[in-house]
Amino acid sequence: MNSWCLGGGAFSPLHRFGIVIAMGFGALTVATLRPLQAQDRPILVIEKESGSTSTVTVQFDRGYASVAASVLSDIGWSVNDQNGALVLTAAGEIKVSFRYDSPFFRWDGVVLQMADSPYVTGGLAWLPLQFLTDFLPRRLPGLYDFSSERSLLRAANLELLVLDDPIALDAEDDELESDAVSGQSELAHELEAAPEVPFSGAVETTQEEEQVLASSYEDSRVVVIDAGHGGEDPGALSATGVREKTIALAIALEIEKALSEESDLEVHMIRDEDRFVDVWARGLTATEWKGERPGVFLSIHANSFPARREARGFETYF
Ligand SMILES: [Zn+2]
Repeated sequence: MNSWCLGGGAFSPLHRFGIVIAMGFGALTVATLRPLQAQDRPILVIEKESGSTSTVTVQFDRGYASVAASVLSDIGWSVNDQNGALVLTAAGEIKVSFRYDSPFFRWDGVVLQMADSPYVTGGLAWLPLQFLTDFLPRRLPGLYDFSSERSLLRAANLELLVLDDPIALDAEDDELESDAVSGQSELAHELEAAPEVPFSGAVETTQEEEQVLASSYEDSRVVVIDAGHGGEDPGALSATGVREKTIALAIALEIEKALSEESDLEVHMIRDEDRFVDVWARGLTATEWKGERPGVFLSIHANSFPARREARGFETYF
């Protein structure tokens, strides 16, 4: 039927292990602007509540569709550069902060991930188009609506923003969670339940603090590398016929080689050959290896999405 990688559901038994990271290469969660090819000179049309429309040029400097961040100031957002971070605020209620060259961003208390990263070029800040066409309509469905057929983003007045109805926001998240195409809601849910983690880079540690952090633990740290699928479970199939289990193992072996050079890391492989390992056993084994030590479980997957071949990007779960 399709060859979606079904790795996501397997992670729950691993939560007690600590951080769980899954990387899918080639997967995606983007509502794409159609057409996205550079030669089609795509544009985005923004229609304001007043009925006035403006045409926004979409750039492909980095190979993915981006628009100048200043476009958001035309629809009521305040756009600022704060110590190298791009910060958007709306009606004093919503704060969205991006770091350049990182796909992760913070929407109020929630860390979300785009397929691509904001960047600076020619003294201007550029945002992946996905933020406008996917995240704005999903996070603020009452204010934004995007039609991919018409490349049209409808934007209501931000003054309408009323955030004193948390139920409405919950309902939005639930709806998102049922959307198999979007990884952002699951990530948001996981993070809302988890303790606040400083947005990497947004919180600077002083040299003194770094020394304390570095010296407080001297035993080895555990890295468990989990090459997805294996044996009778091939995972997804690439466009050229390569099986996910093969790609995952190749990546896992490369990571093992690189990390094994670190003397303070104890590196384990869930599988280092083409064999089937029960998905439940993976978490239990990793937890045993880790014991009481700090550790990370790195699960490698390579998703595919045959029904939408333009899909790209990656997913990360914490
Ligand atoms: Zn997989």
